[in-house]
Parts: sequence; C-alpha cells; structure tokens
Amino acid sequence: MRFSRSLIPTLKETPAEAEVASHRLLLRAGFIRKLTAGIYTYLPLGLAAIRKVENIVREEMNRAGAQELLMPMVQPADLWHETGRYDKYGPELLRFVDRHDRESCLGPTHEEVITDLVRREIRSYRDLPQNLYQIQTKFRDEIRPRFGLMRGREFIMKDAYSFDADDAAANESYRIMFEAYKQIFTRCGLDFRPVEADSGSIGGSFSHEFMVLADTGEDTLVICSSCDYAANSEKAAVAAPKPEDSPLLEIEKVETPGKRKVPVVCEFLGIKPQELVKTMVFDADGEAVAVLVRGDREVQEVKLKNLLGAADVEMLDDKAVFDATGVPIGYLGPVGIKIKLVVDNEVAAMRNFVTGGNEKNYHMKNVNIRRDFEFAEVADLRQITDSDPCPMCGAKLSVKEGIEVGHVFKLGTGYSTAMKAVFQDKDGKDNPVVMGCYGIGVSRIVAAAIEQNHDENGIVFPMPLAPMQVVLLNLGLKDTQITETAEALYKELQGKGVDVLFDDRDERPGSKFKDADLLGIPLRVTVGKSLTKNGVVELRHRIDGVVEEIQPEQVTVRILHLIKTAMINS
Ligand code: ATP
Ligand code: MG
Repeated sequence: MRFSRSLIPTLKETPAEAEVASHRLLLRAGFIRKLTAGIYTYLPLGLAAIRKVENIVREEMNRAGAQELLMPMVQPADLWHETGRYDKYGPELLRFVDRHDRESCLGPTHEEVITDLVRREIRSYRDLPQNLYQIQTKFRDEIRPRFGLMRGREFIMKDAYSFDADDAAANESYRIMFEAYKQIFTRCGLDFRPVEADSGSIGGSFSHEFMVLADTGEDTLVICSSCDYAANSEKAAVAAPKPEDSPLLEIEKVETPGKRKVPVVCEFLGIKPQELVKTMVFDADGEAVAVLVRGDREVQEVKLKNLLGAADVEMLDDKAVFDATGVPIGYLGPVGIKIKLVVDNEVAAMRNFVTGGNEKNYHMKNVNIRRDFEFAEVADLRQITDSDPCPMCGAKLSVKEGIEVGHVFKLGTGYSTAMKAVFQDKDGKDNPVVMGCYGIGVSRIVAAAIEQNHDENGIVFPMPLAPMQVVLLNLGLKDTQITETAEALYKELQGKGVDVLFDDRDERPGSKFKDADLLGIPLRVTVGKSLTKNGVVELRHRIDGVVEEIQPEQVTVRILHLIKTAMINS
C-alpha cells in the first residue's frame, strides 16, 4: 500500500486516556479509533494485524480438524433460558427486545446457539466427533472496558466447540485443541504459558488459560520453580495451615480511637498484621457477606464467588458496609456481626487474634473462632502469594502478571443435558453429547503482542503479526534514479507476495523514520542518497537497529529470506 493514499493517521502526542503501552501505541500508530467506551474502529493497518492473527488461527484450527462456520450475533433469549444463563450471566449480557417484543441478546459466547444446531443435526454416534468454530465479533457489556483492545465491549473472538460420544473422546478433543493452541501462540511469536484456570460463567469440569506474560496483564499467575505446575491465582489452592495450639486467652475490648487501617491499628496495639484479622464485606448477588482474612492477606474474589455460588461478587464501599452492618468502616469484626460470615482457612487456624470491635473506636483482642463467633463456612478464600508453597510439590512459587489470550474448557454434558442435545449410541440408546469449548481473543492478541514487543520509539511487531512486513522509504521524490529504484522495488516486492508499505509521501526523512519505527514494521528499506553516491540501499531491522547496505537488485531475495526465517523460527 502507498502511504500517500492510505488512512494511517499517526499521532505525535501520547493520547491522555491510554494507560498501557498497547493502547497508546495502537492509537498513536493510527491502528484504532474509539467510537465509544470499549468500542473501536479497526483502521486499515489495525485490521491487517488482526487478519494476520486470524489467518494463523484459521490454519491451525483447520489443521486440527475443526470446521469453520459463522453463527448469528443476535441470539433469542429463549435459548439462554433453557440453560438458565439468561438470568445467571449478569449485566455483561446485553439484552434487548425487538419490535415484536421478543427478548434477545447480543452473543458474548455461543454455547447455546451451537448446542441448538447440534441437537437438530446430530442423530447418531456415527455423526460424532464434530468440532466447529467461527471467528466473529462478540459483545460483552464489560463493567470496566479499558486498555484499548485488551478489554473491549465489542471484540473479535475465535470460538470453537467440540462434540463427542463419550468422556474419553472428549478428553482427546480437548488435548488436540490444547496442542493447536500452543502451536497458534508459538506461531504468533508470543511468550506465553498455559495455566490451570477457573471455568467462570462458561462452567464445566476443567479448563486451561493461555497467558501472555506481561506486566500490564490483568491476571495473576503462579508458576512453580520446580515442577510444571502453573495456575491462575483465581484457581491456585492454598492449603490450610495446622491450627495453633496456644491456650485461649480471655477476650478483651480495647479503645483504638481513630485507628482504622491495618498498619495503624497494628502500630497502635504493638502487634504484627499476622496477628490481626480483617473483616471485608462483599455484595454477592445482592446479599452482603463478610469474609475474614489475616491482616496481611487479600480475598480472592473468584474463590469467594465459587464458594457462594454467586454470579457476581464485588467489594462494598464504606457507606454500603455501614448500611449493611451498622458499623463504621475500620471497626467491623466477627463478634456479634449481623450478616453472613465466611472464614478463610488460615484464620480458622489462628488463636487469640485482633479484630474490629463492631463499635466506633474499638477493637477486640484475643478473639477466637467458635468460642467467640458463629460462621457459615471455612474455606480457601485468599489470594495465593509467592511465600506460599506450590500446591503440587511444595517448592517455591513465583508470581507473574499475564494477559489471557485463550481459554479451553472441558464442558462435559452440562449444556447438552439442559438443552437435550442427544445422540443414539451403538445400542440405540440416547446419550447427551460430551462437549468442550475453546476461545481465543483475536483482537486482544494484537494488544498483547504489542505489550510484549515495543520500545520507546513504538511497536516492534514480531514478523508473523506485522500488518506490513516491509516499509519502503523513498527519500528522493525529486530524484529520478531514487524514485525509479524505489518504485521498481515496490512492484518487485509486491509481486513476490511481500506486504509492503511504500512511504512515497512528500515528508521530511526524519518524520518518515519516526513513523516507520512507530508502526513497528520489522524491515525498513531506505532508498536515498546512498543510492546515487554508492549504488546501495539501506535495509534496517526494527528489532535491533542493525543496518545492512545492499545493492537494489539483492533486496528482494534478502527480504524473502529474512521473512521465511522469521516465520519458521517463531
Ligand atoms: P477475562 O477473564 O479476561 O474477562 P473471559 O474469561 O471472560 O476473559 P472467555 O470467556 O474465556 O474470556 O473468552 C475467550 C477469550 O476471549 C479470552 O481468553 C480473551 O482472550 C478474549 N476476551 C474475553 N473478554 C474480552 C474482552 N472484553 N475484550 C477482548 N478480548 C476478550
Ligand atoms: Mg476466561
């Protein structure tokens, strides 16, 4: 494509609203523009990068035996009622009524639609297995859309669904998808890890997420230094410690005027945060629930959500805590608390701890579980840390941030039973099909790749995802030899199937160089004064700035070689 005739609105300034590198650079490089919160237009180069991801995904899905189809984005509520998810999915599901008052929703995922298709079309064990996928726009009314393409409300996903006759066959389908995913993310040139994961609102029996390692990731992963255990911290179990055996001391109310935060209370009472227990209050589908964790710990909300069987849990703000408990924030404790109380298993092993006194300006000392307060349940509710041992082998864990780019689920028969998707087995008996589902965040991958590959000058695309493989600069628009050579190279490279952005604009060399760096195109060919002086052009590698001087007639061969190597190595 010719730069002079393309819509590539690069920006010099950093857009104020962008908090992370990929968001900033996608805007600055003119890849995306925001229409409204979490909804973006993909401009030509942005779309070109997305197409690169799609092509890799499509090739590997087809290779793994999956078949592409395309399902509707608008889905009737009736289907979602069959699985109970119309009510359970929560406000991320965008619901609306049409002119005939029929309730519908925009597809955030397609288990219901595909299961409906399969129950109509699959009759016998002979029709199985099947694996069907699509690459399509999804809509999720995310509460906090942010970071550009990372967490949109509208985004592009590849979703695949497998259907098998029995559990063993379904596990094999899962394994094949797992391997295909490793291949996809490797080919994309990403540094990633598969981790054990929570199944979330999709449900099912087990699942793995594929995480791109990056500091800006919204997910926390734990990775064992010794065995191959790796898990999302939402899923990673923390073992209960042995109960302390010190004698129970007499409970005591102490005045702590104005002392509300953990460090302040600890300093005032001369104790460590490990001797204090925090009482945190969450809203679980409209019910206020208190959670006890040690003073230096955090509640893992997904563990809490799973324990309570809630669709959604969210920490209450100060006022809501007061409304629910009658106690001002900072002084809440379990003794005499009026709302449902659940206890982290670490707290259940503690003796003689400090808690809020359930009265302004008071705390309690020597509080003990069972003797001093009732509770609904004890469970593993806290966020794992790198001081916790690996749940598998006990070795040291490291904690890392990651961006979830893919998620594979073994679903089992939950959807097929609810929607009566059955097939006849060899004996003529009806059985529910055994399902799996497999998602990839296609548009998110572009953002994740940029998080992992950028420098102070812009994006540094890995070759397989680069929207253009080569940027060709004409630095002598008024010089016939330079212009003719540049034009000829453009045609030659295009003729060989290379994706070339030809910068034929009437701009200063400096701004052409800046844009080339910003766009992150892996190879830059400059045709300028060196041609008229020494008969050479410059080939520069974006990744390390290394420059090769070569004769124009050798450029295409060299570039084809570099592209081929970059594609195989990734
Ligand atoms: P997350 O935990 O990040 O919200 P999820 O668990 O809801 O993701 P899945 O239902 O597993 O996501 O969807 C499959 C894939 O779609 C995810 O692995 C992710 O890469 C992508 N994805 C999910 N939500 C978004 C979003 N709001 N914007 C962009 N991509 C998304
Ligand atoms: Mg997920």
